[in-house]
Formats: sequence, structure tokens, C-alpha cells
Amino acid sequence: MARPNQAKIDLHALLHNLGVARSCAPRSRVMAVVKANAYGHGAVAVARALEKAVDALAVASIEEAFTLREAGVACPVLLLEGIFDAGELLACATQGFWVVVENERQLDWLERSQLPRPVESCWLKVDTGMHRLGVAPSQAAEFHRRLLDCKNVSDHVVTCTHFASADLLDSVQTPQQIELFNQVTADLPGPRSAANSPGVLAWPAAHYDWIRPGYMLYGDSPFEAPQPNADRLLPVMTLCSEVISVRDVPAGETVGYGATWRAERDSRIATVTAGYGDGYPRTAVNGTPVLIAGQRASLAGRVSMDMITVDVTDLEDVDIGDEAILWGEELPVGEVARCAGTIGYELLTRMPPRTPRVVV
Ligand code: PLP
Repeated sequence: MARPNQAKIDLHALLHNLGVARSCAPRSRVMAVVKANAYGHGAVAVARALEKAVDALAVASIEEAFTLREAGVACPVLLLEGIFDAGELLACATQGFWVVVENERQLDWLERSQLPRPVESCWLKVDTGMHRLGVAPSQAAEFHRRLLDCKNVSDHVVTCTHFASADLLDSVQTPQQIELFNQVTADLPGPRSAANSPGVLAWPAAHYDWIRPGYMLYGDSPFEAPQPNADRLLPVMTLCSEVISVRDVPAGETVGYGATWRAERDSRIATVTAGYGDGYPRTAVNGTPVLIAGQRASLAGRVSMDMITVDVTDLEDVDIGDEAILWGEELPVGEVARCAGTIGYELLTRMPPRTPRVVV
């Protein structure tokens, strides 16, 4: 009998969430972001499920792009950070990898390379306020012209930008970034792209020709506040385990390393075999919700490498073998993440190989 930890991956939910993205931005083409092992869900399984239903995929590096190609995924794949050395361009040209160009060095490499055929599509990234990657707005027209003139680039040049605060529904920065992007692109030919998941869900002015949803495809809201489109998403990953021990803990006793949880009354504690070695965050605080046999209970004591302890005093008939859900169905990963001082993106992405992904 194997240890009962699993990250169940529901590909129907994934396609449902893609449908939500399409319904929000019906006139835009869709580039699904599957970097970082598809946010921890398994890049190959996710990309195979999506490839016929999207217009392109996006990853962070050429290694991630090759993982998809080697698994037979044939659709265009954008390298979101561009290339890290000139040698990568040959593979881009021959494998149908699209590249972001966000600085002079990358453009130089493109201009100087000898390639057997042009790169199918280049995405010129403009820094409209994130101040992480991208050319300055004042340089955009020149870069765009050089890309169109470059023999190694087809004429599919997309101008794109990235939002810093679109997950804040009352962000003042997002309309400013949209306004600046509109100004920068007013005289540039070709398609435009700006929207990440929050942009898709809540900022229709940011939809343009291509949307680039990532997190929302995996079924959690990128917003802390309720948002009607985000409320339609279905979780793709459900992290499950089982209760392996149940015990009575008298009032006054403590539970776990460092004795951080003390029973205020005679209590019942269930031990679940999933800990930080399985992707559950060690920083989750006492009270973090856990579903035991479908009922909400709360974390009691520090997270161990392989186990957590859960206060089930108010639950009925908890027993060894009961299912524990750590996030997913009925328990959004973002809610657990907030209890651990982080975001759902990080919890999903950090899911270790030790936890088997099981496609359902
Ligand atoms: N576009 C770019 C350039 C990104 O870096 C990312 C992710 O970080 C995305 C789109 C997708 O963002 P999200 O996961 O919030 O949809």
C-alpha cells in the first residue's frame, strides 16, 4: 500500500477555466502560460490537454520549451524571458519557438545570427511600469522597426507589456499602464498583448489581440476580493492525503514541534500524512483550514516534513483512513496560501516531485 498523498489533476477543470478565459476575452487569441511545470501541475499533461484548444503556449526557458516538443507538443511556444544566449536562436527558428525581445542584447543577437529561416514570431516587450523587463516606451518604435527590418524575424511582431498590480481590483497603476501602452502602440503595426490572469478576468481594456492567462487556468482566483469571473473557475489541483492516526489530547497539552499549539479543552487530533516535504507550506499557521472527510477542520501545531496535525474536536467520527484535502475542491489554494503568508502561485509551483500527480 503506497503512501496516500496525491495531487489530483483535473484536466476537465483546466479546459473549463480556459473557456472562462475565452468568454472574458472572446475576440482575443489565447496564449496559455505553462511555465514552471505548468505551475506545478505537470507541463506535459497540461500542454497536451491545452494545445488543440489554445493558439500558443508560453514558458520561461528553452529547456521548458524542449520538454514540450520532446513530448510531441507541436503548437507555438513563446519564451517569455526571451533567449539567454545567441546559440538558442537556431533552436527557436527550427522548432517554432517564439521569442520575447526585451533588451538591446537580445535584438543584437537576432540581427547578427545566421539562421536557416526566420524566427516565426517576436514579442517586443515594453516596460510600462513593472520595471522588471522590457524596453523603455521611448525606445519601442525603434526596436519595433529594427525587428521588422531584421532578416531573422518574420513579420509577426507582437508588442506586449506586463502588469504590476492588475490583481488589485482598485489598482490605479493598471489603468495608467494601459494608457501608456495605448500611447506607445498607437503608431505601431501588428498585434498587441498585455493581459495576465487578472487582466483577463477584470480589465477588459487590456485584452487586445492576445491574452496570456496562467494562474486562472489552474482554477484559483488571482484576487483576494470576490470577482464574478474568477468565481466561475474550478480548481485543477486537489492535494489529498489521509488521516493516519487519531488521538485524544487533554486540555493544557501541546501538539507538535516547538509546542506552538496548546489544547484549550480536551481535544481530538488527527495526524495527516502530508508535510512540507510534500509541498504543504511549513509557514501555515495554527487555524489554517484542512478538509477532513469533507468537513472543515484546522491545523493544530507546526507543519512537519511528512505530517500535519489537525484539530478535529468538533468533527464527527474522524477515523484512520479518512480523506484529507489540503487544497483544491472546496478549499481554494489561495486561502491556504494566505494562512502561510504567501500566494497560491507559490504553493502550486513548489509542489515537489515526491507528490505524485494523478490525472483524473
Ligand atoms: N505574461 C507574463 C509575461 C508572465 O510573466 C506571466 C506570469 O508570470 C503571465 C503572463 C501569466 O500570469 P498569471 O499567472 O498571473 O496569469
